[in-house]
Amino acid sequence: MDTTTAIEIADAVRSGTLTAADVVESYLAEIDARETDIHAFNLVLADVARERAADVDAQVAAGADPGPLAGVPVALKDNLCTRGIPTTCSSKILGDWKPPYDATVVTRLRDAGAIVVGKTNLDEFAMGSSTENSAFGPTRNPRDTSRVPGGSSGGSAAAVAAGFAPLSLGSDTGGSIRQPAALCGTVGVKPTYGAVSRLGLIAFGSSLDQIGPFATTVEDAALALEVISGHDPSDSTSIEQPSLDLRVALDQGVDGLRIGRITDLPSGASPDVEARLDAAFDALAAAGAKIVDVEVPAFGYGLTAYYLIAPAEASSNLARFDGVRFGSRVNAPDTNQMYMATRTEGFGDEVKRRIMLGTYALSAGYYDAYYGRAQKVRRLIARDFATAYADVDVLLTPASPTVAFEIGDKASDPLAMYLCDTYTIPSNLSGDPGMSVPFGTGDGGMPIGVQVLAPALEDATMFRAAAELERAADGGAS
Ligand code: GLN
Repeated sequence: MDTTTAIEIADAVRSGTLTAADVVESYLAEIDARETDIHAFNLVLADVARERAADVDAQVAAGADPGPLAGVPVALKDNLCTRGIPTTCSSKILGDWKPPYDATVVTRLRDAGAIVVGKTNLDEFAMGSSTENSAFGPTRNPRDTSRVPGGSSGGSAAAVAAGFAPLSLGSDTGGSIRQPAALCGTVGVKPTYGAVSRLGLIAFGSSLDQIGPFATTVEDAALALEVISGHDPSDSTSIEQPSLDLRVALDQGVDGLRIGRITDLPSGASPDVEARLDAAFDALAAAGAKIVDVEVPAFGYGLTAYYLIAPAEASSNLARFDGVRFGSRVNAPDTNQMYMATRTEGFGDEVKRRIMLGTYALSAGYYDAYYGRAQKVRRLIARDFATAYADVDVLLTPASPTVAFEIGDKASDPLAMYLCDTYTIPSNLSGDPGMSVPFGTGDGGMPIGVQVLAPALEDATMFRAAAELERAADGGAS
């Protein structure tokens, strides 16, 4: 099949030149051929996808329009609730739990004609940067299977990079869409906080979590985000705004756009990544953008603040996995021992580490010193971004400090793993949008992503710059 983008597939299915059944079979064949080596999925939904494809084809045959994603296969991170279909968060604690409802994003994808082909692997409860923290074993990077795909949405990034689906969804609390997108060479977007409903996303850090797409092109990512965004009365943090309007911005070019270079960005990016970032500035300048130096002084404190705030929220959110409300129970002689046995058995090491960190940060006597102070730093980060955005329209930074590393390299060093998110975390704390766009390759021929950041609700401006970067990369600037 030579139609590879979601938009091409949907156009062909809607006009009747291609059947959704054929689309699904061709992607299932790709999955069959390489999934054993990659392990992108916790569950492949071949039969569900075939049935759904028949529905889509019946709609087209009856003269109806199945929607803008007609017949497009989509892979879903396995922390997104799917009615009657196991949703594991790649944790043992959820056992074979089947949610009684669909996440809002899943409903919206279906209403747009998309076809869910499977649930993808992740770091347990989305805590990690390599997908090695999954209770079901790691996912491998399709570009080089000795390397990690990044994380925590590693399965969703790998699924798109391997050609198992043209689109997937992930969640991003501190970088979990943008970092794996960079490492696998796909586009990955964290929209403005509140632009996409979190209903049915199993919560990690509720004030930071956002759902977003992975795609092979900026335009496909824009379409997917248009479909899943927009107000949802069932999520109290959902912004009261219609769906984002993004594709209009893609052909506007960057003439006159002010692109910020952060002069006090924390160090740590490797020379190959630095070189691609420089090339990205050059490409946008050549296309007419104005490069402006700005400072974001609190940017470098993001990681520290995040590792208090995210674990604090996680320790509270994960309290419900106790063998009573949720979680497969391990029986014991009394209730306390049952809680302890259930959580000892059900959670992996990283999740336990976060629960302990978060519980400590919130405990009486330490709350002000840790959680309270981290919240103040969060405020400073938002303020510093706002100051910078008075002078620029978007900012460019690396998405990840390095290309994909070898499986096992950082698995026993939590701090080294945490540093993977140095450049992505600040915009989760501020709530602003960010996305990673593939921009050439670095060490070992591995992909490098450039991160585009924009002020809240300026997702379209972010896409405008991203589209220009994509054109430059395609035109050989990479
Ligand atoms: N890697 C970061 C963490 O471990 C971010 C995870 C995420 O965005 N879900 O917390």
